[in-house]
Amino acid sequence: MKLYPLFADLRDRPVLVVGGGAVAERKAAALVDAGARVTVGAPALSPLLAQWAEGGRIRHREGRFEPQWLDDAWLVIGATDDAAVHQQIVELAQARRVFVNVVDDAARCSFHVPAVIDRAPITIAISSGGDAPMFARLIRERLETLLDHSLGPLATLAARLRKRIRLRHPDMAARRRFYEWLFSDTVAGLLRSGRAAEAQAAAEHALASPVAQSAGSVVLVGAGPGDPGLLTLRGLRALNEADVILHDRLVSAEVLALARRDAERIEVGKESGHHHTTQEGIHALMLEHAQAGRRVVRLKGGDPFVFGRGGEELEALRAHGIRYEVVPGITAAVACAAYAGIPLTHRDHAQSVRLLTAHCKASHDTLDWPALARERQTLAVYMGVAQLEAFQQRLIAHGRAASTPFALVENGSRREQRVITGTLGQLAQRATEHAVQSPALLILGEVAALAGSLAWFGAPPLDAAAAQAPAMPDMRRPAPNIPDLPAREALLGAIHRG
Ligand code: SAH
Repeated sequence: MKLYPLFADLRDRPVLVVGGGAVAERKAAALVDAGARVTVGAPALSPLLAQWAEGGRIRHREGRFEPQWLDDAWLVIGATDDAAVHQQIVELAQARRVFVNVVDDAARCSFHVPAVIDRAPITIAISSGGDAPMFARLIRERLETLLDHSLGPLATLAARLRKRIRLRHPDMAARRRFYEWLFSDTVAGLLRSGRAAEAQAAAEHALASPVAQSAGSVVLVGAGPGDPGLLTLRGLRALNEADVILHDRLVSAEVLALARRDAERIEVGKESGHHHTTQEGIHALMLEHAQAGRRVVRLKGGDPFVFGRGGEELEALRAHGIRYEVVPGITAAVACAAYAGIPLTHRDHAQSVRLLTAHCKASHDTLDWPALARERQTLAVYMGVAQLEAFQQRLIAHGRAASTPFALVENGSRREQRVITGTLGQLAQRATEHAVQSPALLILGEVAALAGSLAWFGAPPLDAAAAQAPAMPDMRRPAPNIPDLPAREALLGAIHRG
């Protein structure tokens, strides 16, 4: 180990920052945060530092660095752009055994400032020993995504109960099990849901009962449309903690691959027309696993509350007193629009968006066709491709112009994404021509025409008039996860050539 890590208690201890610019600001802010009595020494202060000095957050020592500035300092940071001043600070500080750090000169420092993840009272500090600070920052970013912000309150709660936990579980192994439960079960879930009082009550209840029972819970997670990059951090964390994952067929393999390796995965796929698992069957499975004390993730394509029957699932859980959380996902309409370069609203073309489903004939009969046929609105239609013909006819019959542009987005956000464009009058025919398959989303409205010029992801839109449209492959980035180096290089070359 190159450096000895230590967490210094600087509360009410004088520390010195030399320099009055942006770097000094950052250093001073972190030190003030830790409760230190910060003196900033510099001929002049940045406006922010001056404001802090005015408000008493820091003290200003005006002028160029002088040795006596070090008199009462526990540590000193050189944050000027003057190497000679830094050298002087380092020599004097070391002679006096004061810990010293000067920016941009790791070799001369007697302490380094790590990259920090703050979940007070938990602090995680990462250092590369000065060799690769950028790397330390990247590691910090990775860890940030893994650690929920409820970690801080959880640690505070654990601290408050620490004595009682020790009394209740004198045996070290039992105590560890209790902390594990506290860290990842009911209490953590309640804190994540912003229910601090209930979290405390649950922890106390567990302390009073013979064994801390895992109560079992369900997290309804929206997996997004397919691109794993569109999963939320919360969704990712839930997948990391799950014992059991009940997922739809629509959830992409890439998203499932992010789940904890030893989680049990159960596909509860429903295919339009013939259902593999009935909705009641899904409820029964969720209840069975949660009641056995497991952490269940119910993983759904897109968003769980948009044509996802998430509401019914929560009702079933509520009826049986199972604790639940909901993590939203990026719904197909939002994702397909973004990945096809179609703004769902646009000041010139559409003032509203409607999300609707038209999976079967029966769903058609419940739709408000005159309202759907109005202009200057965008329809995002979640649908089975078999219904396009009927949809087209009804909409035109109710007055929507046959010339209204559409875009059918098949496998939106996935590597295989295809976008087929045209006008309402050609909708069913174009879909047949290109053998469009499920999952596909229909975007209908004036904005759909923008796909022709704004598309950026995957293959260009398949336009009826594609032959005349100038292709612009140099604007597109390749679909993700394709390590096709020659193609990338060609692409970069094309961009550089303009
Ligand atoms: N809860 C989901 C929708 C479930 S209904 C969500 O919020 O996205 C299933 C329909 O969603 C499919 O028939 C299709 O119309 C649409 N869909 C889901 N994922 C899609 C994708 N990657 N590309 C295109 N359409 C998609």
